[in-house]
Amino acid sequence: MEHAKFSPSSAHRWLNCTASPMMEVGKPDSPTKASATGTIYHAVAELAMTKLLDVYEDDSLGDKTASHPSENTIAREVDAAFSRVLNTPLSFMSKRDAAFIDDADVEVCVEAVVPYIVDTFDLFDDLRNVRPEARVYPLPALENDLYGTVDFHGIENSVLHVVDLKTGRYPVSPNDNPQLKTYALGAMQEYDAKVNEVRLYVHQGGELVGPWTIEAGDLLEHATALSRAIKKGRTGGEFKTGEHCRWCKAKTDCGAYADRALDIARDEFDVPVVADGTVDGASMMTTFENMTGDDLAMVFERYALIEQMVKVAHEVATRRAYDDGLDVPGFKLVRGVKHKAWLDVSVTAKKLGDGAYKSQLITPAQAIKKFGSEATDGLWHVPEGDLKIVPESAKGKPVTPAALGEFNDDA
Ligand code: SF4
Repeated sequence: MEHAKFSPSSAHRWLNCTASPMMEVGKPDSPTKASATGTIYHAVAELAMTKLLDVYEDDSLGDKTASHPSENTIAREVDAAFSRVLNTPLSFMSKRDAAFIDDADVEVCVEAVVPYIVDTFDLFDDLRNVRPEARVYPLPALENDLYGTVDFHGIENSVLHVVDLKTGRYPVSPNDNPQLKTYALGAMQEYDAKVNEVRLYVHQGGELVGPWTIEAGDLLEHATALSRAIKKGRTGGEFKTGEHCRWCKAKTDCGAYADRALDIARDEFDVPVVADGTVDGASMMTTFENMTGDDLAMVFERYALIEQMVKVAHEVATRRAYDDGLDVPGFKLVRGVKHKAWLDVSVTAKKLGDGAYKSQLITPAQAIKKFGSEATDGLWHVPEGDLKIVPESAKGKPVTPAALGEFNDDA
């Protein structure tokens, strides 16, 4: 799919680092299993939604409200759309993404896409003024630089709703989200009706998060920021490192990124290194035990950049060691260990017969879908996950600290 140089999906980056769009020119997206799966699920959602909304295309309803399809109808359309995408992937995605098609799991797709359609349709009483997968141009005067595809938008009672379907595991918040605000600017221009209020949502992991609400007029400030950044970026822009570097395709070539990461490693971290060159774990533990919450937050923020830098260094060193024979003293190039894999599944099945198969219990989610909630009631539970500190914007209900729990019990 063709992308704008200043795409809404990377607005958070080029609003911060106006040099990044130029730096990314000519650097292709490298599809991963996760990104390709996202492309597949978006294609399924678009096909199913378009088919479900097709019935409202003519004006036969007159003044009546376009009613909502049942969840079963939605699930049936999602299944059908998944089969269509699976059978003719090249009609929906690039050859490189299509190479991952076998990794897409119909159950996971249904679990993500069905609630997405149910929840987004539920935002409206009438489904005639909604649009899935629509190309928008947020700043008409800069339409060649900035355009993108909104997963879902619609208007009702002067309220514009914009929903972004996220399929990655990295949690995304709709709050003040530059991508969604940019989509909203574009979506507003698609309707003749007046928009007073804009509500932004993210649908991720089967849940609708939001809305984050803003007066339509207040988006003007965002439009001005976009316009300024694009004009600056067109003439080279200014480098600015930060959390936004995380997904930048220019990381491996960016001097600013390398310099910043090295500065942090050198100046900010007082890493206790012992004589043999390894880190003194006990002393580091004591350092962290004595830090305040603010200091630990600072370590996490800075560590994110170092972590990214080490990942990129690994990527570049591996490529150069293989392609150019680069010697990296103390390190060697090896192949990762993989499990044995069948050369041809159908030949194996034929040769080994039924004995080669094992029956396996389906997952609780699959069982609920197949047998219903009543039949499976009391058979499953959600195990408690391991404790971890995550950013405030991340998904998950805050856990009451053990210290406070004891205090409450005593009270
Ligand atoms: S890596 Fe960071 S600083 Fe460098 S171009 Fe990308 S966003 Fe800008």
